[in-house]
Amino acid sequence: MQSAFAIAGQLIQPGENRLLRLPLPGLHSETSVHMPVRVIHGREAGPVLFLSGAVHGDEINGIEIIRRILSLPSLKRMKGTLLAVPIVNVLGFDSHSRYLPDRRDLNRCFPGQEEGTLAARIANIFMQEIVVRSSIGIDLHTAAIHRDNFPQIRADLKDPALYNLAYSFAAPVLLHSAPPVGSLRHAAAHKSVSVMVFEAGEALRFDELSIRVAVHGILNVMRELNMLPPAKARKKSRPTVLLRSSHWVRASKSGILRAQVKLGDIVNKGEVLGIISDPTGQSDQMVLASGDGIIIGRTNIPLIYEGEALFHIGSSHQRALLADHLDTLSHQDELTPPELVEEPVIV
Ligand SMILES: [Zn+2]
Repeated sequence: MQSAFAIAGQLIQPGENRLLRLPLPGLHSETSVHMPVRVIHGREAGPVLFLSGAVHGDEINGIEIIRRILSLPSLKRMKGTLLAVPIVNVLGFDSHSRYLPDRRDLNRCFPGQEEGTLAARIANIFMQEIVVRSSIGIDLHTAAIHRDNFPQIRADLKDPALYNLAYSFAAPVLLHSAPPVGSLRHAAAHKSVSVMVFEAGEALRFDELSIRVAVHGILNVMRELNMLPPAKARKKSRPTVLLRSSHWVRASKSGILRAQVKLGDIVNKGEVLGIISDPTGQSDQMVLASGDGIIIGRTNIPLIYEGEALFHIGSSHQRALLADHLDTLSHQDELTPPELVEEPVIV
């Protein structure tokens, strides 16, 4: 028999779906600020999964991903507990900023501390109320402003609890990466809570494909955790492609970039990725792929400085599998749960 779930000084009963507001430090005007948390506590016992969005305040895809997940009727029959936090960095979100008003990157301030800086206090509240009450987490990100990411999972595959789950998400690509110090993922690992990051799309924009890949992936993970029953009569997800490493190709000079490749393109070493020119077009310099792989991130702004990261290439041995999975992405209906009637976001 499932017992009540304690969070934020309240008890959530089995079968209950409740919106909580975690109090945060307020504004100069003394306007109060809170972090919204939707708690769905299943009638039957199971894992506690958290979903987090907008840890970087301008990365908003996760908000729409979480909204769609919360609209699914199948959650009424869910086992275990779902903690959905669409906006972690509320202050950054309200000012369309990646950072907090104290100019700190919240995702480098975890685990935070109760008596610390503004960022440390918010990180601490999230750790105490959400992370330590969970067994698994999925943290939803996009690329930074003027950049775009191909849908991908990042996880430390040395964590045995994450290995199967990261594959079960069935994103087109999976990048093994150790979590950066100070990140939510890093601090959670120290509390034995396994967190994977979903990276897709760009800041301050919705991207329909990224949203669909994530909704599909989160449902896959919930099925793998037995929080939801297996999918009925649906095609098996295409297997995710493991990227063994990734590297950035940087600008060799400042100038104006004409990109020649898009996200998801498969490239070969030496291939032209872009051309950097001066304002009057007197000299062109080619940007060449420094290895074989797939474009998993790129800049969208043509105005670039020497040393700037332009194209992120992920390397894989599984190129045929990759081409096959890329083909799936052109059929977005395959990614959509039948019970989710949703008009696509058009951009
Ligand atoms: Zn981010």
